[in-house]
Amino acid sequence: MPEGDPCSLPSRVATISLHTSPLDQPGTGDAGGLNVYVVEVARRMAERGVAVDVFTRATRADLPPVVELAPGVNVRHVPAGPFGHLDKNALAEHLCPFIFGLLRAEAQGDPGHYDLVHGHYWLSGRAGVVAARRWGVPMVQSMHTMARVKNAALAEGDRPEPEMRVRGEDQLVRQADRLIANTDDEARQLKQHYGARDHQISTIPPGVDLEVFTPGSRSEALARVGLAPDTELLLFVGRVQRLKAPDVLIRAAAELLERDPSLRSRLVVGVVGGLSGVGHSEPLLLTDLAESLGVADVVRLEPAQNRHRLADYYRAATATVVPSYSESFGLVAVESQACGTPVVAARVGGLTTAVSGGESGVLVEGHDPSDYAAELHRLIAEPAWRAKLAMAAPKHAATLGWSRTVDELLDVYRTSITPRALPLAACR
Ligand code: UDP
Repeated sequence: MPEGDPCSLPSRVATISLHTSPLDQPGTGDAGGLNVYVVEVARRMAERGVAVDVFTRATRADLPPVVELAPGVNVRHVPAGPFGHLDKNALAEHLCPFIFGLLRAEAQGDPGHYDLVHGHYWLSGRAGVVAARRWGVPMVQSMHTMARVKNAALAEGDRPEPEMRVRGEDQLVRQADRLIANTDDEARQLKQHYGARDHQISTIPPGVDLEVFTPGSRSEALARVGLAPDTELLLFVGRVQRLKAPDVLIRAAAELLERDPSLRSRLVVGVVGGLSGVGHSEPLLLTDLAESLGVADVVRLEPAQNRHRLADYYRAATATVVPSYSESFGLVAVESQACGTPVVAARVGGLTTAVSGGESGVLVEGHDPSDYAAELHRLIAEPAWRAKLAMAAPKHAATLGWSRTVDELLDVYRTSITPRALPLAACR
């Protein structure tokens, strides 16, 4: 922060994303909405003059120590633990070397002093708190997901989050100066499950890139993703994991075909995204499920796609289906709406903010595939209903651009580093 000006933005922020790199392709492994968040926010902060260093664990020996992601945004690789992708739950034991690397980078004067630390996910937060205390700067934390919330909404067969994470999150909430919640619901969960105090929490919704995710010709998009012009594409986008319930979509499609067999020649269920975490086998289970329900011929499993290609999948779809058991926000739902495609989502967590139920999409109570089949049938059978939602969807998404997120985050940064006596209004 420039000396003598208490209203300034921070000059340089240390953003911590220990378990997943902003350079990874989202939609597979441990890379998802958090990675998109870190990249989109960092780029826009740098454009406003706030340099951002993103510290992440080095997963390969040949990674350069520093990679420029965008002007003013550097990714710093910190060796901690063995190379290779490790299960998130195994990373806690490598926190010490990670913290050591973080402190050493600053101590060596390259790149210099940080004015603020922002941690993403609890592991990063644990490292961030130590660094922030050492450097005498504020610590801002985004949880993204919380163990107690996840454990309360486990899908059948899911393993609960470990006690070590619950305890770590408890301590982190006590230690962080500020907590960023994606939605009012997350703010409530932080208070209810972790005892966070009101003055710590700021609710700031994440955003969507309104330049990449734009409406466009459905027929052209269908052609670009290799589908016939009359296709009814029901789309799932995201990491394939039980918590996101892609199986609900496949079961709903089976019911839809039972209800209306004439759809068979033009229905496609597209599942775009790779394996979640390390070493699971969900896509195989999805294939087995589709075969056992007699719908394998309509299900297309696609690996994770870059965001430009993803925009075409959204534009091509009749609806994007987000039947998650728990979702801290649901960027996919907003991206789909920004492309003019209605969303059929579970009425859980951040999806109730991400989707304006009955306006830009449909919110479904629970996870009964019949309920999803009924909503999808209505969207296919009633073009006027679909057109109404499709018209409102981009308008709703437009209220959630990343610029707004960054404006509000910078206000939190300013108030964190500004002496308490000075009201923020005086800085505007
Ligand atoms: N994503 C992507 N390619 C894919 C699948 C997903 O780039 O093939 C991105 C998607 O655009 C979204 C993010 O991954 O921005 C997923 O975020 P979301 O909040 O929906 O779920 P999370 O991964 O955080 O649980």
